Amino acid sequence: PLDRPTVMHVKANFSYDPSEDPYVPCKELGLSFQRGDILHVTSQDDPNWWQAYREGHDDQKPLAGLIPGKNFQQHREAMKKTITDKNEEYKGKLWCAIRSKKHRKKLLYNPNKNIEHYSEDILTYEEVSLYQQPPDRKRPVALIGPANSGQDELRQRLLSSEPERFAAAVPHTTRSPRVHEVNGREYNFVSRQSFESELSAGKFIESGEYGNNLYGTNADSVRQVVNSGKICLLCLQPRSLQVLCSSDLKPYIIFIRPSPPPLSPPPPQERFSTMLARGVKKRMPEDVREMMEKAREMEDSYGHLFDTFITNNEPEKSVCELLSIIQKLDNEPQWIPSAWNR
Ligand code: 5GP
Repeated sequence: PLDRPTVMHVKANFSYDPSEDPYVPCKELGLSFQRGDILHVTSQDDPNWWQAYREGHDDQKPLAGLIPGKNFQQHREAMKKTITDKNEEYKGKLWCAIRSKKHRKKLLYNPNKNIEHYSEDILTYEEVSLYQQPPDRKRPVALIGPANSGQDELRQRLLSSEPERFAAAVPHTTRSPRVHEVNGREYNFVSRQSFESELSAGKFIESGEYGNNLYGTNADSVRQVVNSGKICLLCLQPRSLQVLCSSDLKPYIIFIRPSPPPLSPPPPQERFSTMLARGVKKRMPEDVREMMEKAREMEDSYGHLFDTFITNNEPEKSVCELLSIIQKLDNEPQWIPSAWNR
């Protein structure tokens, strides 16, 4: 489909259903898409309604459909957000007024006031380009997920299964080396002053303090693995993606969805009505419920940064899935943010 003339390729960072959009000029001409879909934009003649088709769209249906233009979408979302926030603020103020029994003058608001402020935060489309990784410069692969959802184990399995293909970045620490530890192998041992100055220069992808010592992985350690021709495997929290994605490392980001454990059967003496009253959810251990909730929050807030997702039902299966995803990076060009090529 790429031989069709295209103005630009974008990744959608929101989902769109024209049948629920009162503004689309003609619902039948609208193109629905999901967050994460790649869209090939064929016309931006009308800035409010671009024409586009989806990647992988059945070629038997060659017509492009209408999608909201970037500024139009940003503007109306910003307006919605401003109105919702103002309503909340108004409700809050009203409540105070009622409570203090004071009569306040009617609150008026200008929904246009905050639109510019919001537009920056509203995710619409990101321009993307195809990128084929060179055989001697493999993209680092970052596994993201809530703590204890299994990504560390998956990374360890990959590292030990093919040490000539995968490597971890050597972290930095301010603690002293132990006997048998070699500088540059287990850790890069550095002074606190040097660690802190690199940290404040934004060079660390992730860092933390443990027993009065600082630990962290910086971009140069990742680059070292890339330069050696191996695939650098990282396990990160989503907040680390900002430094990684604004570097020149072109990471490939895989979200590891935790899988809920099978529910334990209810005790035989528990009556059906009691079970219903307690709710099935309650039988999931608290820490697992928290992890599932955390994973959902991560997907909501950072999902636009993830290249793909896997559900970690069984580590053996997940390792196979990861290997086949990583193999694709060698075999097929991938869509990356166009900003990474500039
Ligand atoms: P050790 O000093 O025994 O090698 O590591 C002690 C602890 O430091 C580990 O259990 C881990 O919590 C933390 N740590 C080790 N390496 C890293 C790292 O690269 N980044 C961060 N944030 N913490 C680390």
